[in-house]
Amino acid sequence: MQCPYCRAESSVTETRVTADGLRRRRMCTACKRRFTTYEKVGLPGLKVTKRDGTVELFDREKIVEALARVTAHRTVTDDDLRRIAADIEGRLVDGARKVVAWSDIAQLAIDRLRDIDPVSANRLAANYTDETGALRLVHDKATDRPQLGLRLEDDD
Ligand SMILES: [Zn+2]
Repeated sequence: MQCPYCRAESSVTETRVTADGLRRRRMCTACKRRFTTYEKVGLPGLKVTKRDGTVELFDREKIVEALARVTAHRTVTDDDLRRIAADIEGRLVDGARKVVAWSDIAQLAIDRLRDIDPVSANRLAANYTDETGALRLVHDKATDRPQLGLRLEDDD
């Protein structure tokens, strides 16, 4: 994207996914001025692979749901969870990949959660990985589909 002031190339400093598309903060590589662009595209066909090999369309709500499980009884707010999920979505868009592994998403979530609540981050890490660090799947009785991670014991 060209800088609107000097026409040099710009770089993206932040991407947010909004209801209408993408909002990107950019900085000109030449004159260093900052500007924001709005792009009316969502996540065209971004797909997620699970460890069992199934592929599904990216769904931000699934990140929020997974985070809600590990942050139960903690002080992390819904807004925090939605901000983390939106941030991850922005990162994936910037990565320009068509397919992303659930394990990559989980790792991004763990990294962000650690800044807000290390206890929840450790829960997520323990929940989504086994002792070798590999992601594990369990069969979810409610949906009759394999799900990433184990149901947490209620340890409070
Ligand atoms: Zn410029």
